[in-house]
Amino acid sequence: MTTPVRYTIQAAQPGAHLFEVTLHIEQPEPAGQVFSLPAWIPGSYMIREFARNIVTLSAESNGETLPVARSDKHTWHLPAGLSGPVTLRYSVYAWDLSVRTAHLDQTHGFFNGTSVFLCAHGHEARPHHVDILPPRGLEGAGWRVATSLPEAVGEPGAAERHGFGLYCAEDYDALIDHPVEMGTFSLVEFEACGVPHAVAITGRHDCDLARLAADLKPVCEAQIRLFGEPAPMDRYVFLVMAVGDGYGGLEHRASTALLCSRADLPYPGMETVSEGYRQFLGLCSHEYFHTWNVKRIKPAAFVPYKLAVENYTRLLWAFEGFTSYYDDLMLVRSGRITVADYLGLLGKTITQVHKGSGRRKQSVAESSFEAWTKYYRQDENSPNAIVSYYTKGALVGLLLDLRLRTGSGGSVSLDDLMRALWQRHGLTGRGVAEDGLYALAAELGGAEVGDWLRDLVEGTAELPLADYLAQVGVGLAWETAVATPGLGARTTAEEGGFPRLANVYDGGPAQLAGLSAGDVLVALDGLKLSAASLDKQLARRRPGERVTLHAFRRDELMCFEVELAGTLPDTARLTLVDDVQAPGQALRKAWLEG
Ligand SMILES: [Zn+2]
Repeated sequence: MTTPVRYTIQAAQPGAHLFEVTLHIEQPEPAGQVFSLPAWIPGSYMIREFARNIVTLSAESNGETLPVARSDKHTWHLPAGLSGPVTLRYSVYAWDLSVRTAHLDQTHGFFNGTSVFLCAHGHEARPHHVDILPPRGLEGAGWRVATSLPEAVGEPGAAERHGFGLYCAEDYDALIDHPVEMGTFSLVEFEACGVPHAVAITGRHDCDLARLAADLKPVCEAQIRLFGEPAPMDRYVFLVMAVGDGYGGLEHRASTALLCSRADLPYPGMETVSEGYRQFLGLCSHEYFHTWNVKRIKPAAFVPYKLAVENYTRLLWAFEGFTSYYDDLMLVRSGRITVADYLGLLGKTITQVHKGSGRRKQSVAESSFEAWTKYYRQDENSPNAIVSYYTKGALVGLLLDLRLRTGSGGSVSLDDLMRALWQRHGLTGRGVAEDGLYALAAELGGAEVGDWLRDLVEGTAELPLADYLAQVGVGLAWETAVATPGLGARTTAEEGGFPRLANVYDGGPAQLAGLSAGDVLVALDGLKLSAASLDKQLARRRPGERVTLHAFRRDELMCFEVELAGTLPDTARLTLVDDVQAPGQALRKAWLEG
């Protein structure tokens, strides 16, 4: 049997936010053993250089300390010619409360393998075992473990479900795809299509666990049935961190790490689905859909992941966009939200995409490719420069779905395309080629559908949403959200209460007058401004009127003459149109009911 790579990990100094890790291999590579830590975590397309959090590191063999050399920021080398087993010991600073890294204090510990487990080069394909040790100094605190990492059943010291002890992964790739939570979380379990599911919630909360499980179950089952039983995982775990204010999620092969506001969780006695809870269910649905779409159906560029460098693909519009399309669709199909709610959410997505002029400059294919430097590293100019492959990708998914449905009289849909991806790529492990979606769309809908999809994805023309929605009996109207003459800018409150320009939109009054993001507005026509009074003052003016704005740029007071803009219909409103011909009604029913 292949000797596994063995790790131990312990919350050794919770107060100092330090995990202590050991890594043991029996036979180091004769030419010199290399170890490295990933520079990014799959699902979050940004170089994060996790190795910066390794505080101390040493190596030994047969009781002797070994020299450790560095070749770059995330790589360590042991000398050539070592005969015996080697052990690395290192400490990892864990104080980032996000789903992407690691966090440790006296209340709980959380880690992604990408933050804590060095990769032993040449040994990646071996089984990887990890002994998760109880926290030091917190004996009696009642900590448990929640993870989708399988327990090392049959091995000495094997963990029991939710216990400390030995866990195992088939290889390094699997080891780093099962985040681990430890602490005194609440736990609720349910089955979806016979597969055990668990939700572990960390942090102060008053969640109605039974309600949450009852709502998640039909959403999970709708997705398993969409792709076809059996589900690709033996069990699934939602790891939820509840905080005062937060939002985020990251997908894994049999689990997801989620960050949410505790107010978004359902409370005992809650009768309706609040907006926050709807958003939380949408987040769960989104990450769950990734179990198929991106964790198993992958761009060829991710097979395998190259974790030291950026992995470029032009396909995130399908992997994130289609997932975003299905997240809310699965809520309406499983009866968790109403059709009216669903159309409201779709309207919001349309509004978001149309808000930024970046959509006229960057295609969703380019947005995918440039995720590493643009989508993930947004700045004050982003609305003018980029488009989101999440939101516009979701609309491309909607359009492709409607075109396949209307073009085939309802016999073909995006569901069929997802199932084909699953059969050909998810189940085989073969990555999707960069033009693979166009070919598949052509196969399912005809050559012209493939070309049409390519234009939507590679181009920057407005999406023909109204036409296709009309064919399934949904009306799209544009309304004016705010009747106040505007500056063409977004403001936030500065310390001291003055409005600060956060974004200055292309071609708007503020930009034309020379105002910049970062400028702090202090007076309008000589009257002192506050974040609260800006809109009130503007509401008394008319479009085309000129006003004088005083603003600080750094510490310099500047004066600007601004001609106020008229209001634009910028908010999409979707409604059911019930006088359409019968075929449209049937298509709409099939689309929304699955
Ligand atoms: Zn996603």
